[in-house]
Amino acid sequence: MCGIVGYVGRNEAAPILLEGLSRLEYRGYDSAGICVEQNGVLEVAKAKGRLQNLIAKTDGGAKLPGTLGIGHTRWATHGEPNERNAHPQVSGDGKFAVVHNGIIENYARLKQELIRKGCTFVSETDTEVVAQLLAYSYRQCGDVFEAVNQMLSQLEGTYALGIVCADTPDRVIAARKDAPLLLGYGQSENFLASDVTALLRHTRDVVYMDDGELAIITAEGIRIYDERRRPIEKEHQH
Ligand code: GLU
Repeated sequence: MCGIVGYVGRNEAAPILLEGLSRLEYRGYDSAGICVEQNGVLEVAKAKGRLQNLIAKTDGGAKLPGTLGIGHTRWATHGEPNERNAHPQVSGDGKFAVVHNGIIENYARLKQELIRKGCTFVSETDTEVVAQLLAYSYRQCGDVFEAVNQMLSQLEGTYALGIVCADTPDRVIAARKDAPLLLGYGQSENFLASDVTALLRHTRDVVYMDDGELAIITAEGIRIYDERRRPIEKEHQH
């Protein structure tokens, strides 16, 4: 289980994501990646090995302009450590990008069902199932929040998830079960991370997510929902 960082605000996202990931390097990882949204398009960059490879490849993040994004350092459990299997994993239609810590236990069955329905997979990861399921549900229901709920209801296993959708470019969506994930509050910018050390340079005002909760993070604020998708207020930690 490795590192997740997410950012929505007024500043360039990529350098913030890369810096946040560098704070999580101590946990160990085998590859890294970021996704930044710009003009409704999800731009992804990934690199095998050290984070420095990703920093060099993206020119310190300058090659991925935009003010919203997610980043990941991966510790492979399903599929060898290479660029294709690194996160973010993107749906076939390019609409959803996902970073994931944990293991989707029933991914093989979900993958077979999606292949039967016409999906083409490009990685060996369990995580790609999340991205493809989101895109499939979204095509059926036309609503991102509903698609996330439909996807989550099918997952078995452990997850901390950061999700972005090209059609809702003002938000990062977060969900967790049996894997740490927390929300960071800033001034006209908000954050997501799997470990508080990734955020300390930007904010010390955080909320720890609990199992089954879902959060929608925008620059203006964060909405949190309980397991039954009722909006809730949670205690902040400093
Ligand atoms: N199970 C996922 C994979 O192998 C996530 C691994 C992690 O937690 O870094 O891609």
